[in-house]
Amino acid sequence: MKRQPKLTKRERKALAPARPQQQHQHQHQHIHCIACGRHLDEAEFEAPATATIITCDHGSNFPSCVKCMPQAMAAVKEHDRTNQPVKTAGAWH
Ligand SMILES: [Zn+2]
Ligand SMILES: [Zn+2]
Ligand SMILES: [Zn+2]
Repeated sequence: MKRQPKLTKRERKALAPARPQQQHQHQHQHIHCIACGRHLDEAEFEAPATATIITCDHGSNFPSCVKCMPQAMAAVKEHDRTNQPVKTAGAWH
């Protein structure tokens, strides 16, 4: 008799691919550039990328247009330095 090894919930969770966390942003469906507020499509993160993710020192991810990277990086750096929420631009479409 064959026994399938069973994974515990925790083990299954550990095997699941890591997803970008957006805990500072609470944007689950919509991704917006933190610097300019532009709506970013998931496809924009694929090559040729026009959008990118910036990770802060706490490991949180912040989406940004490639064009906005200098401003977005500065905002994330400021957040890491001051421990305040990242100053994000108002989202628009
Ligand atoms: Zn949106
Ligand atoms: Zn932008
Ligand atoms: Zn952070």
